[in-house]
Amino acid sequence: MNYDTVVVFGAHADDEITMAGTIARMSQSGVRVVVVTMTNGCEGYPRPEMKDVIVELRRREAAECDKVLGIQRREILDIPDMGLVNDKETLQRCIKIIREERPDAVFTHGPVDRHRDHLNTHVITVEARWHAGEPVAADLGPPWYPPHLYYYKAVTGGLPAIVIDVTETAEKRAEALATQVSQHTLFGRTKQDFEAEAESIRKNRPKRTEQFWIADGVQLSDFLPKGI
Ligand SMILES: [Zn+2]
Repeated sequence: MNYDTVVVFGAHADDEITMAGTIARMSQSGVRVVVVTMTNGCEGYPRPEMKDVIVELRRREAAECDKVLGIQRREILDIPDMGLVNDKETLQRCIKIIREERPDAVFTHGPVDRHRDHLNTHVITVEARWHAGEPVAADLGPPWYPPHLYYYKAVTGGLPAIVIDVTETAEKRAEALATQVSQHTLFGRTKQDFEAEAESIRKNRPKRTEQFWIADGVQLSDFLPKGI
């Protein structure tokens, strides 16, 4: 993935951690990685007393995750959790970010998912990526059509896939998950669990990979070193 800039769309402020090893690998090699988080995570509270602070907690945890993975810009669109829809405003905000960043590739959720925010992130991203390239809505910036589109989860068959070796950055996923303290009840693991996993990976360096489904626009030559 010899890219200059990529934009990763996620419904919630931990979805992009699915591809943490790849994000870390890209950012370490100089790729500008931008994450767009559609919702504010307001329903992600496991106990009633957390309801009033969950949005702020998740914002802070996202900022910690950005440091771990080398994410250069994160836009949180602040839409209520479980309330994301493909309305005009949200679509245009996504088009504007794509036109600002002019990414080589866009990553998003796949189409097979029970969570409405995940599904709608998929639908909005696919449309925004196309609409960003059309000569319309000129106030949102000059047209830009990101040539490559990948899904990083929620796909069942039917699409070609690529496997990225993330052995060298494999501990980053556990380190990123360790930052998401408000979600640890949901994950069924503690911060100490994730820190121990990261330590074990650093020590033993097991082979790890991440998979992506090629939705559109990628050819084999895109994965060869530049100049070949
Ligand atoms: Zn999610």
